[in-house]
Order: sequence, then C-alpha cells, then structure tokens
Amino acid sequence: MLSKKMQDAINAQINAELWSAYLYLSMSMDASNKGLKGVANWFRVQFQEEQAHAEILMNYLLSRGAEVKLAPIAEVPLVWASPLAAFEDTLAHEQKVTAMIDSLYRLAAEENDYATSNMLTWFVDEQVEEEENARDLIDQFRMVGDNKLGQYMIDKELAARVYVAPSVLADK
Ligand code: MG
Repeated sequence: MLSKKMQDAINAQINAELWSAYLYLSMSMDASNKGLKGVANWFRVQFQEEQAHAEILMNYLLSRGAEVKLAPIAEVPLVWASPLAAFEDTLAHEQKVTAMIDSLYRLAAEENDYATSNMLTWFVDEQVEEEENARDLIDQFRMVGDNKLGQYMIDKELAARVYVAPSVLADK
C-alpha cells in the first residue's frame, strides 16, 4: 500500500502536470493569436502530452487502490513576447518539473517503495527528453534571431508535429 505521504506527493504531481498542460495550452493560444500556426500546433501537442503525464499518475494511484484528489489549477500567464520567450519559459518550467520528479523518486527510495520507483523511472527519462526538446527550439530561434524568413521556416517545421501517446501507461 502507498503511504499517505506518497499519495499526497503523487496527487501534487498530478496537479503540476495539469498546470503544465494549462501553461502550454495558453502558449498555444497566444501563438495562434499572433498567426504562428506551427508554434501553436507544437504547444497544442505539448498540452496533450502533459494531460497524458497526469493520466499515467492517476492510473497508477487507482491501480494501487489510492484516491485521486484533483486540486484547483492555478492561473497561467497569457502572453509571451516571442516564441523564443515561450520556449525559454518552457525550459525553465520543465527544469522545475524535473526537480519535482527527482524528489518524488527520492521519497520512493526512502520508503523502499519499489513499484513507485519503477513507475517514476519513465518520468525520469521523459524529463530528459522534455528539457532537450525545449533547448533545441531555443537554439533554433536564437540562431535565426530577428530574421523573419528563418522564423517562418521554424514555424513551418513545428506545424508538422503530431500527437502520439507518450506511453501505454496513459491508457485505461
Ligand atoms: Mg509533464
């Protein structure tokens, strides 16, 4: 059985993943408002990914006979100065999420909770990818700077991103 402390910590992580979803949805809407269809698409897919992260954690709590407690989702920013600024915020946010996952992992280790440790391994790997993706896009937008054609090319490339469920653990 999961400890009360672990249940609370996973519920807090569910809220953080849903906040992430809301943040990226807001970035998507802001990009749409500015005619950046590709950036909007990229963040819309990211919004779906974050929902899948929350689903994995909800499914895990349910499979352990624990209660999912959905807390209110805090407000998110609505406007970003540029796609570069949005991706810089994305990286900073994902670094915070990585730290949260790491402390969950530490708690699981302290409690000798092997099942939770195994489940969290997926998130540890996922965070490496999330940070790398944000870093790559920051590099690309920095590379083109104020060059409109360059920005157009990146936007076009981001329009091709398609949502693929990140893990079967999100299904149920
Ligand atoms: Mg996430």
